[in-house]
Amino acid sequence: MTKTLILGGGLSGLALAYNLEEKKDKDYLILEAAKKAGGLCASYTKDGFIFDYSGHLLHIANKQTLKLLQKLLGKNVLHHKRRAYVYFHGVKLPFPFQNNLYGLDDKFISECVKAALIAYKEKDIKDTQLFKNWALAQYGQAICKHFLFPYNQKLWQFDLNKMTSDWCGAFIPKTALEDIIKGAYTRRKKDFGYNANFFYPKTGGAGALADALLSKISNIKYSSKATSLDIENKTVHAGGKSYKYNKLVSTMPLTELGKITKKLPPQILKDFKALKHNSLYVLNLAVSGETKDGHWYYFAEDKYPFFRVGVQSSFSPNNAPKNTSSFYIEFAFTPAQKPNTKELEKQTIALLRELGFIEQDSKVLVAHWLKIPVAYPIYDTKYAQAQKNIIDYMKAKGIYLLGRYGAWEYSFMEKSLLDAKALAESLENL
Ligand SMILES: Cc1cc2nc3c(=O)[nH]c(=O)nc-3n(C[C@H](O)[C@H](O)[C@H](O)COP(=O)(O)OP(=O)(O)OC[C@H]3O[C@@H](n4cnc5c(N)ncnc54)[C@H](O)[C@@H]3O)c2cc1C
Repeated sequence: MTKTLILGGGLSGLALAYNLEEKKDKDYLILEAAKKAGGLCASYTKDGFIFDYSGHLLHIANKQTLKLLQKLLGKNVLHHKRRAYVYFHGVKLPFPFQNNLYGLDDKFISECVKAALIAYKEKDIKDTQLFKNWALAQYGQAICKHFLFPYNQKLWQFDLNKMTSDWCGAFIPKTALEDIIKGAYTRRKKDFGYNANFFYPKTGGAGALADALLSKISNIKYSSKATSLDIENKTVHAGGKSYKYNKLVSTMPLTELGKITKKLPPQILKDFKALKHNSLYVLNLAVSGETKDGHWYYFAEDKYPFFRVGVQSSFSPNNAPKNTSSFYIEFAFTPAQKPNTKELEKQTIALLRELGFIEQDSKVLVAHWLKIPVAYPIYDTKYAQAQKNIIDYMKAKGIYLLGRYGAWEYSFMEKSLLDAKALAESLENL
């Protein structure tokens, strides 16, 4: 019998184990499906280039996390002031779009400002619980029609009319009308949003953080994919073995947990079926030659099949050899779609040359595709109740859900670290 059995050795599982170790509680075991730890917070090397599972940047708002970071990474960390941009109508604008319209066509700017003024003055949009209404009330018709809606459609791959705004506060910079207007007529230096600064390991890529946690824990089993959960007998089957537990913490995707759990009541089964997500394909690309300035860029227009291009080599000089550049290019799909990655790759490289990310005579040195099958949990109108019902049901059975996928939420690494600490502290009394 294991006191605390943990499903998944990504950042959340590792951070929970780390906090249990800190409390001198060694009666835990992580079961990890893969052959290595880290989950999405991992890095790999290909032909001298370090790539992440799509760029993973540490945006830190809490002093506790900063302390932990210092403890885990010591001097192996770089601090960056964000240089993020939006490509729109052939113009490179600072992120976020709605606060930085300056540089676009006068007529276009007038349309956006006028619509923002109308939204502000008339305040006729009710029910801002829905995503589209929330955005329309904040930014007005034109910014939504031209940028926010097409961008979010490309990212979520879901009917935006059915999405709520529950995730927006944390991820879309809120904008005062004054900032839309000032940003429309002058180039501003003000930073907006949760990700204006970030940390990134000097060596080892984003995965250095997971590696540092891993070095402080002792009980993890690899190639141990949980394939069945018997709640009544408190037993998990994984990698051909059975594990009895006292308390179970799951960080594996909640949708998958639903599939392997025996004898769920009909309502909870229905709630599991209500959970939806998109999938991502990521092209990790390295080329000869330097690239243009910037950490990452957003693309809303249809002519670009990707929604974001990140410059992996800009995060640390150790990510790429001298006189080369590396990128992660992100494409979103519904889980059922199977894109033609060969075609996409050709089209993308041509577009990156056209945009000036890659010089015309640069050689492609690495082109490697990753698939992230469960990428963004979707906040549709059924999400909140379904997620709550499942969390409550599982908790009553001694099962705790942790992390972006375990708890099924649109969250980030700092939250994984903080939630893991809070759970380790309360687990004893639950
Ligand atoms: C494209 C993308 C970019 C992101 N960028 C950032 C960023 O820049 N900054 C940031 O803070 N956050 C970012 N995030 C969010 C970040 O990845 C997560 O918040 C965090 O890494 C989640 O860690 P986790 O351990 O909860 O989940 P995961 O990393 O998914 O770990 C879950 C683990 O469970 C294992 N597992 C799965 N099924 C089973 C099973 N049946 N049995 C046993 N083990 C199993 C998996 O192998 C995995 O190791 C990004 C996410 C995505 C998708």
